Amino acid sequence: MHGLMMDNPLLISSIVEHADINFQDREIVSVVGDGSLHRYTYGDCFKRVRKLANALAKLGLSEGDRVATMAWNDYRHLEAYYAIGGAGYVCHTINPRLFPEQIVFMINHAEDKWIMIDPLFIPLIEKIAPQISDVEGYIVMGDEDSIVNTNLDNVISYESLIKDESEQFEWPLLDERAAMGLCYTSGTTGDPKGVLYNHRATILHAYALIAPDAMNLSNRDCILPVVPLFHVNSWGSPYGAMIVGAKIVYPGPKMADGETLYNLMEEEKVSVSLGVPTVWLVLLQYAAENNKKLNSLQRTIIGGAAVPESMIRDFQDNHDVFVQHAWGMTEMSPLGTVMSLKHGMDQLSQDEMVNLQIKQGRGMFGVEMRIVDDNQKILPWDGEAFGALQVKGPWVCSDYFKLKGSAGAHTEDGWFDTGDVAKIDPQGYMQITDRTKDVIKSGGEWISSIEIENTAIGHPAIAEAAVIGVASEKWTERPLLIAVKSKDQEASKDEILSFFKGKIAKWWIPDDVVFIEEIPHTATGKIKKTALREQFSDYQSSE
Ligand code: AMP
Repeated sequence: MHGLMMDNPLLISSIVEHADINFQDREIVSVVGDGSLHRYTYGDCFKRVRKLANALAKLGLSEGDRVATMAWNDYRHLEAYYAIGGAGYVCHTINPRLFPEQIVFMINHAEDKWIMIDPLFIPLIEKIAPQISDVEGYIVMGDEDSIVNTNLDNVISYESLIKDESEQFEWPLLDERAAMGLCYTSGTTGDPKGVLYNHRATILHAYALIAPDAMNLSNRDCILPVVPLFHVNSWGSPYGAMIVGAKIVYPGPKMADGETLYNLMEEEKVSVSLGVPTVWLVLLQYAAENNKKLNSLQRTIIGGAAVPESMIRDFQDNHDVFVQHAWGMTEMSPLGTVMSLKHGMDQLSQDEMVNLQIKQGRGMFGVEMRIVDDNQKILPWDGEAFGALQVKGPWVCSDYFKLKGSAGAHTEDGWFDTGDVAKIDPQGYMQITDRTKDVIKSGGEWISSIEIENTAIGHPAIAEAAVIGVASEKWTERPLLIAVKSKDQEASKDEILSFFKGKIAKWWIPDDVVFIEEIPHTATGKIKKTALREQFSDYQSSE
């Protein structure tokens, strides 16, 4: 017997309807191309969202067609999210930092019909245009002036596209399982793989992320998502923020600029921010060098890579900002775990608290987790055993776009294998110890490269650290620390190695440290260990 409840589909257009009625005056502030601030309200935003939806329909698009965006975090990109997805098309967000060949692959694989681009990316698109000839046209996210100097075919400016359109739009009543977003995840090997989001997953994920034990978003918040709109839906923030009507602040092209981030936080009274550790390094450095304190920020949600202990302490000790470590991935919309306190934890000592914050947080309702060994045997949540982390849930991908199961990322019993290795403590706090591919096995035992890296970063002379396994006759593999020195700091190898004593297991301590000028990164800011392994493939371990 079915229950007698209305069967309203969960659609992102319902966020527009709700927020437009309830939060008309709430502000959205964006840094735009010339560095100035653009400021308008939710009400203004939704008028333009509906104009854009009308304009897209006139381009001859059909339900499910892909419209790509290549843009920084600003108000036009936000409008594109809602207009494209809400109107029944699929918003394919492209990371402009990827290699041009990867971008070409994604556009062709996705069969993008139109591409919306920030004026800054016109040269990049002009270069690859001959290789993406199936694209029907380009919308440059600016006014008429933004397209005067381009030789792209069939190009129109965003402002002229929407200028004469109606502010009314009848949102289609779509199937909640209809696709609305597409984001490619570029592993370190092979072609990028497309994760195809639907309305239902996106709404459920948004409900989950605003909850008190997740991001705790409310109407009283002012949110600064530094995580790009092209990186896993900016962690769901466009949806979560607009469900509650939070003020939104976007850094535009200035997302890696400490001064801009600091000023935005202070002047706009930002209470919560989201981003990867690299971005916060820049902000914290700016604050330290200029003797400034973050006065309004209350908490920051950091994920995408492990947060070093020193960063948690810097935020807390110098700025009174609570770091909420989070973990997820493109395939998971992205949230899987978020750090939040359980009852009775308010009394933790500072060190105990930091030890908890270093972990990636605990599972949210909606994501089931398990860790398994090499034989798929389920491991206990004892904080000791670590194994492959597998997940399941309504906002976890069931397959990759067009791959029809060939990626082999799912187990026979329907779990998604994250490719991460983790341990989970009895309270449910999960800690990533490695990527499966990066695991170092020494004398038959696993060593966590992440834990060594995070400890290394705690040394003042180390700005960035990466640990890889190098061949060892005796132990099969041993950890090698590769580090970039902090500006104006010196330390000998021995000093660095003795710094580990008492902080990690003795046999985890790397045998050697190599200093290099720069550690290679992927387009999403992660350490490119494949490149390092290649670079150090001839390295001889000193047994
Ligand atoms: P992406 O799909 O690009 O967001 O990358 C997802 C991967 O980033 C995960 O599978 C993890 O390996 C890594 N990752 C994400 N968040 C964290 C975190 N908080 N700590 C360590 N690794 C993380």
